[in-house]
Amino acid sequence: MSLFSAQDFDEHEQVVFAADAETGLRAIIAIHDTSRGPALGGCRMWNYDSEDEAIRDALRLSRGMTYKAAIANLSLGGGKSVIIGDPRSEKTPDLLRAMGRAVENLKGRYIIAEDVGTGVEDMTHIRKETRHVVGLAPDQGGSGDPSPSTALGVLMGLKAAVDYSRDGKGLSGLRVAVQGMGHVGFHLCRYLAAEGADLVVTDIREDLVARAVKAFGATAVGADEIFDADVDVFAPCALGAILDDDTIPRLKAGIVAGSANNQLAEARHGDALRERGILYAPDYVINAGGVIQVASEREGWDRDQVTRKVKGLYDTVLGILQRADRQNVSTSLAADRIAEERFRSHRATSLAA
Ligand code: NAD
Repeated sequence: MSLFSAQDFDEHEQVVFAADAETGLRAIIAIHDTSRGPALGGCRMWNYDSEDEAIRDALRLSRGMTYKAAIANLSLGGGKSVIIGDPRSEKTPDLLRAMGRAVENLKGRYIIAEDVGTGVEDMTHIRKETRHVVGLAPDQGGSGDPSPSTALGVLMGLKAAVDYSRDGKGLSGLRVAVQGMGHVGFHLCRYLAAEGADLVVTDIREDLVARAVKAFGATAVGADEIFDADVDVFAPCALGAILDDDTIPRLKAGIVAGSANNQLAEARHGDALRERGILYAPDYVINAGGVIQVASEREGWDRDQVTRKVKGLYDTVLGILQRADRQNVSTSLAADRIAEERFRSHRATSLAA
């Protein structure tokens, strides 16, 4: 694979390949942009089919973190790391410590946290080698599981979209289909149920669906049926790339607002939603609650302050929806433009200094 000319390279500042023969570590640390601050982003451990796929994933995810940090107004840049390997069989404390040394070598330009395939307990091993780590357990001075904050941010984005398109009718009686009853999906259901919304839920794990049906009186549907549900809002909280040429025409919802990363299969699907009159609350904007929480660990974690910041996503989303209408563009493009203005202006300032 060619790197500098690859589409996903997109002006990355630095890409590091880290290997450790003793522990079997093979990792890529991608730093997209540090003009707003050090690059913060999770570490994904995945059994990639090829090295090219791992590189592409690291590049795409780190670029996304630059946009997410900028739109959430955090003094952070965007980065991400991937470890090639099966997290169930190949993840060892020594391998994680080797990863910690690779992070330490970057002298704070990259701050690591958990992601798919890594968890709070893994960060404890990494911390033995570097202090440039967040997403730690409360007994390690960290803020613990970030998913309740992520779910709160999604709720705020969802509310902003509802208020914008339904003239402040509120959430009571609103029908919401939630795809994925994992960490974020379940907390989101809890918030929505408390505000009187009617829930339609799905997951590929029956036990998680049963838990939501019992806890919230939700209606369960099959994993594929969720796209056809007769609801006001569709909240994807499972996988990425679920909004595509097949699923968008099936949606009955007038709003899409969920936590899953990279929901649009391709950028053009933002326009496809707009053409169908579906209001899309951009994923990386409304799922920023988790990064807001873990980032706060660097300044001494304060729950009330984090909650205030996460609630601020309501105004951020409202601003994006208004700008998209004014400029006659999709909401995803409007969000990208705001984020780009923010980190590019910092870039210009630091170049001029
Ligand atoms: P999770 O793994 O706890 O939950 C995901 C759930 O989706 C699982 O229960 C899984 O069984 C289910 N699922 C998988 N495929 C499915 C399918 N085809 N149909 C229905 N359900 C399916 O993950 P999570 O932490 O709740 O995160 C959910 C999404 O939000 C992910 O895309 C994640 O990247 C994103 N996100 C999470 C956070 C966070 O704080 N956890 C932050 C930002 C973004």
